[in-house]
Amino acid sequence: MKKEYYEVLGVRRNASREEIKKAYKRLARKYHPDVSPDSNAEEKFKEISEAYAVLSDNEKRKLYDTYGHSGVDARYTREDIFRGVNFEDIFRDLFGSSDIFKDFFRFNFGGDFFRRGPERGRDIHAEIRIELEDVAFGTKKNVTYTRTKRCDFCDGTGAENPEDFKTCDLCKGAGEVKEVRRMGFSQFVRIMPCPQCNGKGKLITKKCKFCDGNGRLREKSSVMVEIPKGIRDGVSLRYKEMGEYSGSYGDLYVTVSVTSHRIFKRDGNNILYRAEISFPEAVLGTEIEVPTLYGNKKIKIPSGTQYSDEIKLRGKGLPRMGSFGKGDQIIKIVFRTPEKLTKREKELYKELLGLHSS
Ligand SMILES: [Zn+2]
Ligand SMILES: [Zn+2]
Repeated sequence: MKKEYYEVLGVRRNASREEIKKAYKRLARKYHPDVSPDSNAEEKFKEISEAYAVLSDNEKRKLYDTYGHSGVDARYTREDIFRGVNFEDIFRDLFGSSDIFKDFFRFNFGGDFFRRGPERGRDIHAEIRIELEDVAFGTKKNVTYTRTKRCDFCDGTGAENPEDFKTCDLCKGAGEVKEVRRMGFSQFVRIMPCPQCNGKGKLITKKCKFCDGNGRLREKSSVMVEIPKGIRDGVSLRYKEMGEYSGSYGDLYVTVSVTSHRIFKRDGNNILYRAEISFPEAVLGTEIEVPTLYGNKKIKIPSGTQYSDEIKLRGKGLPRMGSFGKGDQIIKIVFRTPEKLTKREKELYKELLGLHSS
């Protein structure tokens, strides 16, 4: 005896579509054949999927409510019971991907039920280069590119006027054609998108003159990219529906590359800078002026500074993205041991040496 669909999903007979979907999602997570410890998980998964396929479709549900299982089975093949159910979104929602189920469904129910809705256009990837100064202050950059867009003159239909269509004679407007194959005593029915109208059910009688019936056009597009302060190198910013059109729009991804700086090095939100001083300055101490992203700044070098000692300029680094405050500028002090000495310098160093050895 085949179980009652409502019982299978554990919902009331007057459950709303939302309640049915929620119940299916809960059970699909539980009986996912790859994770469930239940030895009947696969059977259960098939059972709940079938119940969901019927109860989530108004027409099939009505048929089931009136005539029960026999009503549905008489009217639909197993494959057609699943046709039109959007499992793709459900599994993506639950498990992050629907890939693992494609084979499962194809194997168990004989069809690919994952292609639904208008085809989505490809994403476009663009790159912009900015300077380190742009990271410090933020900036706006215009990105111009060419993409396929929906033809505005015909609203993507490809026809000159809304009435310039006729019903497809091959599929009689259904958008699908049946292919019947006999094998021995069995008869297999396959339903495919109509090859003449590409599943649309209608044909254009007068083409739109702007897109020549394609419903799409190649056009220039531009996006004002707002670079947030503190952005990291290599981050991609997403612009929804600014990609290619093909039934619906893909997205635009703009990858931001930060050009390496002439004198500064970036380390997270900190800025590294090397300041070279003379040997006597390191010994006796001094005051120097160093560049920062926010203008020059005087700093004190204490006497007795060692090679690669660091001096920190608080708040002179890069802003923290999406947060408050800034990093620091870290100044590394370097100097050289003098190589070429004047006569006078040599005398002085000799005198110093005498002082040390005595
Ligand atoms: Zn057709
Ligand atoms: Zn057009």
